[in-house]
Parts: sequence; structure tokens; C-alpha cells
Amino acid sequence: MMSPLRNDLLCPSAQPDMNEARVMGVVGGTPEAPEIAYLGPGAEIDPSLTNQLKELHPTQVFRFAAQCEPSRCAHFEEGRCSLANRIVQYLPEVVDVLPPCQIRHGCRWYAEEGAPACRRCPQVITMIPKRADALNHAATPPRGLTPSHTGSTSFS
Ligand code: SF4
Repeated sequence: MMSPLRNDLLCPSAQPDMNEARVMGVVGGTPEAPEIAYLGPGAEIDPSLTNQLKELHPTQVFRFAAQCEPSRCAHFEEGRCSLANRIVQYLPEVVDVLPPCQIRHGCRWYAEEGAPACRRCPQVITMIPKRADALNHAATPPRGLTPSHTGSTSFS
């Protein structure tokens, strides 16, 4: 039997207006193959920078972590993050060594799926262009996205 999870876990693909949101990575790579550069221990990005992005949505530039909000998220099912589970099921591993991620101690994906989530995490962006690829497949909840959905990886 699985042990109960803490109730203060962090969403590692959050929206910037969620509770206690902070930048945890910078989006790099290409539109077809995004690659997150994680902020190392102690590194911070001034949140006011996100107001200077003009036409870009902050999630096009950054990955945010924030308090996981189960009741507001279409990915939360049966007490767990179904997105983390689908990421591990459907996406390939992209790194061998776990990224130097500053939220691992509180990350919901890591708490639920362990290192396999971290080895796939760098390819995940928060606002996904709609197209037929593995990330779209992984980001689609079984019951679809509801109008009340506000958190975590979604479609642009
Ligand atoms: S899944 Fe791993 S690498 Fe990704 S945010 Fe969580 S702890 Fe960090």
C-alpha cells in the first residue's frame, strides 16, 4: 500500500498567478523540442521580469512552480496528479542524470513518480501548442480540460 503524500506539494508546471508561484526554470531548446534549464540551488529570478515580456506569456519563457491546487486542476484525479503519470507513460526519457532542480524536495511529480518523472521533465512546457505529438497526448486528461481548469500544463 502506498503511503499518503504530503498535502503541501508543489506543481512543477504551474501558472504564474497560482499561489506562491516562483520561476524554477527557463524555457530553451526549440519549439519542436523544448528543453528546460533549471534554476540551481539558491538561484532566483525576479518575478517582476515577467511583466516585461510584452506579447509573450510568462510560461513561454519560464517554468513556474507553485502550490498544487487539486480542486482547481483537471489533471488531479483520485488523489494524484494524472499528468505526472501520463508523462512517465507516454514521454521518452531525455536525460540520464536528474536535473539540478531546486524544488525536488516538494515536487508532486517526483513524490508520486520518482526519478522517472525527472528524467522526462526537461521536455515539458506549460502552455503546449496544439499538435499531434507525445506531449499533447500526455497533457490531455481523460475527461478533457474543463473551463475551471487553471493550473498546470495546458494548451495554448
Ligand atoms: S519532476 Fe523532477 S526535475 Fe521536474 S520539477 Fe519535479 S523534481 Fe524537478
